[in-house]
Amino acid sequence: MDSKGIEAKSKLKAYFVPYLTPSHYLPLFQIAKLFASRGVHVTFLLTPNNSVSLRDSLESLNKAGLQIEIECVDFPSKEVGLPEGIENFNVATNLEMAGKVFRAFFMLQAPFEAKIREAKPDFIVADMHCFWATDLAAQLGIPRLIYHVRAYFALSAVEAIDRHGPHKDVKSDDEPFLIPDLPHLIYMTRSELPQWIQSESPYTTFHNKVSEADRNCYGALVDSFYALEKDYIDYYHNTLGRRAWSLGPLFLHHNVVLRKINLNSNNQINEETKKHPCLEWLDKMPEGKVVYISFGSLSRFNSAQLFEIASALESSDHPFIWVVRKKDGEDEQEKWLPDGFEERISKKSKGVLIKGWAPQAKILEHPSIGGFVTHCGWNSSMEAITAGLSVVAWPLSAEQFYHRKLFVDVLKTGVGVGNMKWSSMIDGTDELVDRVKIEKAVRDLMGDDEEAIERRRRAKEFGIAAHKAVEEGGSSYVDLTNVIHQLECFKEAKKNDTVIS
Ligand code: UDP
Repeated sequence: MDSKGIEAKSKLKAYFVPYLTPSHYLPLFQIAKLFASRGVHVTFLLTPNNSVSLRDSLESLNKAGLQIEIECVDFPSKEVGLPEGIENFNVATNLEMAGKVFRAFFMLQAPFEAKIREAKPDFIVADMHCFWATDLAAQLGIPRLIYHVRAYFALSAVEAIDRHGPHKDVKSDDEPFLIPDLPHLIYMTRSELPQWIQSESPYTTFHNKVSEADRNCYGALVDSFYALEKDYIDYYHNTLGRRAWSLGPLFLHHNVVLRKINLNSNNQINEETKKHPCLEWLDKMPEGKVVYISFGSLSRFNSAQLFEIASALESSDHPFIWVVRKKDGEDEQEKWLPDGFEERISKKSKGVLIKGWAPQAKILEHPSIGGFVTHCGWNSSMEAITAGLSVVAWPLSAEQFYHRKLFVDVLKTGVGVGNMKWSSMIDGTDELVDRVKIEKAVRDLMGDDEEAIERRRRAKEFGIAAHKAVEEGGSSYVDLTNVIHQLECFKEAKKNDTVIS
């Protein structure tokens, strides 16, 4: 380390290309900072509005010696018919707006490509959705690393389903099939798979391009750690023959590195609201007794489903913090809470409703939290794992159904509940999970029987292992060293005209 705490200077120059939603570009920016903390010169491509929260920290990062900059490309608002300022999926509240963001994302390819061609970096790190980055890197003769927001377990299951097509051999959408070849016996149904795998659609073509770019790229950077997914990390490397480095838990790794150079992680969405009243409420609650319920930054429920959740929480008899996101276009008059719900829970200090952004990472690490009802988005999942919490796994979309399997069948820290049909995040689901099932899942999670205690014991162990992984000499710390070393060797070999794959 030099006097500023930046580790052995690398002479590498990298370009990072994110996807247009905070739950993808924020962790990618954390990876960018990790690379910069090892001396890599990083340029992060983005659009103006998406870059606002990241820019705040740039000056202090640069002062601390990290060579990191953000280069913006105009977001084609007019061309796709979106109002100025709507530049990501997080703020697109309906399917039409999301479609326009998606079109704009495709239009950004050309200007992003042009910047990378001109800069001639030594490697590219691009979100999985940027399939074109693999071809671009091949043309430039440099490695492309891919970043997926998912577990090795999900990466492995997707690959096994792609290769063997077990979902094609079942007679109905709800008949379970075994995913061949995985280290554990994992059964899923066709209805749990993403729509584009269930049946051909324009998105299938896009998905196929993403998969092909993934297979042909140099390797993957994964927000996971060896002690958590040992079997699947080995499977991914040895059986599937894929290159990957585990850098997780990313948010923790990143916080540890920033602390070392005397900086706060002040640009995380999670830490925006430092003195949120829910944290003061948590301070007054007994240790390990509060349930936290949240379904991420994109998923929204209709009134009927919210009503079921509210009823279940009230009758479960456990104090709770519930982050509510209501589906756009719902009839404002429609009842989504039982009569007097908010007054009752506040009077008895039974719960807190958050109708906006919750400081999730801070909530999860609070000692009063005893369990998490989650949609199994990978960022939320890693935050739960790091906090040593067992979960109710209630997936809705994306890769979340795989993560329910991971929690329930592999890690054995989760109680499965909720939807059996995959749905699009923006469109939402027409399935209704009734209050009895939700209440039972919450009681199982928070209960004192042997199974609940064992789930909590295992979750705590993973939490301890998560912290070890990112400390100096830990598995994720070492993998960061390894990937940079390998990229340096690649550059050196290229300079000497040696062929290296
Ligand atoms: N998040 C948060 N407050 C909220 C909702 C979400 O801090 O009110 C954060 C959460 O901590 C996580 C991210 O947003 O880091 C959500 O990412 P995830 O992959 O779990 O789900 P997605 O939003 O992509 O569905």
